[in-house]
Amino acid sequence: MEAKVMTMTRLGSIEAGGTKFVLAVADENFKILASERIPTTTPAESLGACIDFFNANPVEALGIGSFGPIGIRQGAEDYGHVLKTPKPGWEGADIVGTLTEALHVPIAFTTDVNASAYGEYSVGAGKDAHSLVYFTIGTGIGGGAIQDGHFIGGRAHAEMGHTVVLPHPDDHFEGVCPFHGNRCFEGMAAGPSIEARTGQPGETLSRDEPVFDYISYYAAQLAYNTYLNLAPEKIVFGGSVLSEAELPKVRHYFEQLNQGYVDPGDLNDLIVLSGVPNNGSATVGDFAMAAALLA
Ligand code: ZN
Repeated sequence: MEAKVMTMTRLGSIEAGGTKFVLAVADENFKILASERIPTTTPAESLGACIDFFNANPVEALGIGSFGPIGIRQGAEDYGHVLKTPKPGWEGADIVGTLTEALHVPIAFTTDVNASAYGEYSVGAGKDAHSLVYFTIGTGIGGGAIQDGHFIGGRAHAEMGHTVVLPHPDDHFEGVCPFHGNRCFEGMAAGPSIEARTGQPGETLSRDEPVFDYISYYAAQLAYNTYLNLAPEKIVFGGSVLSEAELPKVRHYFEQLNQGYVDPGDLNDLIVLSGVPNNGSATVGDFAMAAALLA
């Protein structure tokens, strides 16, 4: 039998969150070989821990999905940096520069939601699609759009969670977004809005509570606006708030908003839940972005 020389590719991921960083190394099939969680403290400490981890577990390329706001315009002075943030010590932190200097590997850098979108696009619910928009509805709402392997957006990353919402006629909630009150999706449909309305976290409530009807109505608006704006092949929802139980309602409200105006095809194919493990985890997307750098 002819011997085939296999060189194993090692891909790195950093899910850089506001409270913790999840570091991981995988092979070319995204099988995890090593991982570690570190608390988000100061840039020097947290990035230092990343460098220690990847020195001990070397990779050929690294994908980073980061909390924001961040500079993602390649070639711009603030590329790879954390921008204006209330998080102490992090404003101006040079994530990509610091890691490039220490690790000497190519780095793909984007937002956490874009990284999740890329995971869905590569191996998840959009693996057979050329275009996809991904939303996470959790403690906040974010969205990322991909067309033929590229993120849509240029000057900055999109802020789809704060686009304008039409409140449900029976929903008199004032919203939790300090900027937009009851006029943005994040303020009306993210996890904290459920707790503010009901006094209970969403996961402890029955799915028959009216609040989930409102959330479905808002998810349908997100999906419908997205379809009219970009007409993607897939609209994928991740995060902890929406479940399988709401999907029929989301599709129903989508139809109600559309009134037959456009033909989006089968809504069961268009509007779907996350197809990667951990419900939209950015890690798989980070690996896929790292692999794309090596392709
Ligand atoms: Zn807002």
